[in-house]
Amino acid sequence: MDETISRRSLLAAIESDPSSTDELQIIAKKVHAQFSGNLNGELADYIPELAKVPANQFGIALGLPNGRVVTVGDAQVPFTIQSISKAFTYALLLDMIGPDETAKVVGVQPSGDPFNTISLDGRTNRPFNPMVNTGAIAVAGKLRELLGADAFTKILELFGQAAGRSLAVDEKVFESERETGHRNRAIGHLLRAADVYALPVDEVLEIYFKQCSILVTAADLAVMGATLANLGNNPMTGKRVFGLNAVRQALSVMFTCGMYDGAGEWACKVGLPAKSGVGGGILAVVNRQIGVAVFSPRLDSNGNSVRGQLSCAKLADDLGLHAFDALNHGSSFLRGML
Ligand code: GLN
Repeated sequence: MDETISRRSLLAAIESDPSSTDELQIIAKKVHAQFSGNLNGELADYIPELAKVPANQFGIALGLPNGRVVTVGDAQVPFTIQSISKAFTYALLLDMIGPDETAKVVGVQPSGDPFNTISLDGRTNRPFNPMVNTGAIAVAGKLRELLGADAFTKILELFGQAAGRSLAVDEKVFESERETGHRNRAIGHLLRAADVYALPVDEVLEIYFKQCSILVTAADLAVMGATLANLGNNPMTGKRVFGLNAVRQALSVMFTCGMYDGAGEWACKVGLPAKSGVGGGILAVVNRQIGVAVFSPRLDSNGNSVRGQLSCAKLADDLGLHAFDALNHGSSFLRGML
């Protein structure tokens, strides 16, 4: 059998024999080695504390629905989750109030604009989608209204349930964002003026800045991704974290909007729902199969990790992960009926 085809069936083989993750480890190592010399891109420096991170760190982690995590390189190094948090707070809001009420807070349309653009969808007077800052701050405001003063504690707990261990905030990054986040503050006021929430703007931004400052490792992110892949159940703890409908909608919006103005190219090249953060993380998810997490803090001009994108594209190719790759297994139960 040709090597590509045998790799494509690797995930199916792991499902039936969890001990066969060794081959996955070899593939991840090769991808890591292939890109480790690529030092293109720059650290995010508009948040001063992020500019202090060692720039050349590089880790890959793969989380499987059988609870195993394959890691290479700096996969246990903590970094701030940043915008990857947006996918998870959105899923939480969907779980709490459902898609119709959530649509009154934030849309599901790609904006085609950079993540920090200060604008609303003219048709709805609501943010385009929850993956850009306007949308994520709107979601944070709604969660603050629904959950009260404990909102952030509950968000942090939920992220910990998705990662399978309790997580903490990087206080220095949080302070740095709070001190310098004037664009985000402007967005907070725009949303307040549009009646998305009726709260003091600083209370909403405190949640947003804190959720961005949660520390994770690539291994944590891989488990968080595997939780989404595993129908909302954390495969390590066996506990339900998100409902099915929330997962479906969060992944759909990640697919169309998760990589900002690079989302269309990403959809063609990688073909997976994904979310990036300016801390250097990227999380991609294959429904029912795997969470792919990469950490490498050098970013391109869209604010996406350079090596993160390359590694995800290569892994998607090697493992046949693209959603529309005719050779991959897919997750439809129709498969079983053929
Ligand atoms: N905290 C960052 C900001 O609001 C998150 C941006 C990102 O990761 N793209 O600017």
